[in-house]
Amino acid sequence: MSEGAAQRDLPARLARVIAMQGPISLTAWMGEANASYYSSRDPFGQGGDFITAPEISQMFGEMVGIWMADVWARAGRPERVLYVEPGPGRGTLARDALRVMARFGLVPVVHLVEPSPALRAVQAGAVPGAIWHDDLSSVPEDAPILLVANELLDALPVRQIVRAAAGWRERMVALAGEEGQTRFVPVAGSNPMDPAVRPQWRDAPEGTIIEICPAAAAVMGEIGGRLAAQGGAALVIDYGYGAPQTGSTLQALRNHAHADPFATPGEADLTCLVDFAAAAGAAAARGARVSGLSGQGAWLGSLGIEARAQALAKASPAHGEAVAAALHRLIAPEQMGELFKVLGLAGGDWPDGAGFAGTPPA
Ligand code: SAH
Repeated sequence: MSEGAAQRDLPARLARVIAMQGPISLTAWMGEANASYYSSRDPFGQGGDFITAPEISQMFGEMVGIWMADVWARAGRPERVLYVEPGPGRGTLARDALRVMARFGLVPVVHLVEPSPALRAVQAGAVPGAIWHDDLSSVPEDAPILLVANELLDALPVRQIVRAAAGWRERMVALAGEEGQTRFVPVAGSNPMDPAVRPQWRDAPEGTIIEICPAAAAVMGEIGGRLAAQGGAALVIDYGYGAPQTGSTLQALRNHAHADPFATPGEADLTCLVDFAAAAGAAAARGARVSGLSGQGAWLGSLGIEARAQALAKASPAHGEAVAAALHRLIAPEQMGELFKVLGLAGGDWPDGAGFAGTPPA
């Protein structure tokens, strides 16, 4: 079956599975829906479903490149270094960051982790010479890594646990409605999940939802272990929260608008807010050092994005307004400046990267 056909078939396939074996976990639902979504299209930019920071302006990738060049210089300029990016989208961030790094004499080997064949093809155009991997496990282990992941963790499948009358239950997806007019609906499953709930939330009111992201913990654990064993530094950037919270943050984005996450599996991007305390904890548990957690606006500001915006506007006055608008979108508190956060990690004998001074470790 072609990829397009497989994707159109996803709702029917999920309906068959549920009809035969009963409700499926929300984790399985989100994993299937996003795998199908990302493998079949290039969802980014004005014509797609959503726009990410590197697609808003080249300044974003440039600041990542400056951050990497700075921490590499302070680590003593090791000759062999790996640039590692899981979930590189269109390859725009890598292209912009690598261009800046080369100016500082830093030319790493580029390793991209991307399961989607459609996106690999797009990335090949932006980053010639890159090496691709299905997951982090095959990235070489013989050199320090400079890793960045932007909007990766939010796309990984979450597990939701809901407080039902009888206790905590895993949230599942079931079929409702008459035959021929069925729809997908979230329900509380039957397996008790009470042991998975933090003690302070055990007695939360009925209907309370708790999210856990085992896939994000696995990725962060691998990143933390690599940093500890190989040395290097990492940036994990996403929208999320610093202190643990309850409530469902599952959302679907289609054509830049919110959609029903259960209506069209595979046709919309499903995301959840990132639990940064859990993400940092998973990396630290494998030996990485947490350099800090900063709002995206403050972090970009401390790297010098405003001076870069002025220089770009001066070099090309016709684009001055567009540059100012992009800067505002990236750093203003009511835009991406505070909801989006930057987690810094370091490992081995590498120093902490810039931009986290004064921020309490997560
Ligand atoms: N970093 C890019 C793209 C963000 S979208 C940007 O900022 O524009 C999420 C990206 O993660 C896509 O490239 C998607 O294909 C990829 N992805 C989704 N699941 C993944 C997984 N399990 N491992 C690695 N990449 C994944």
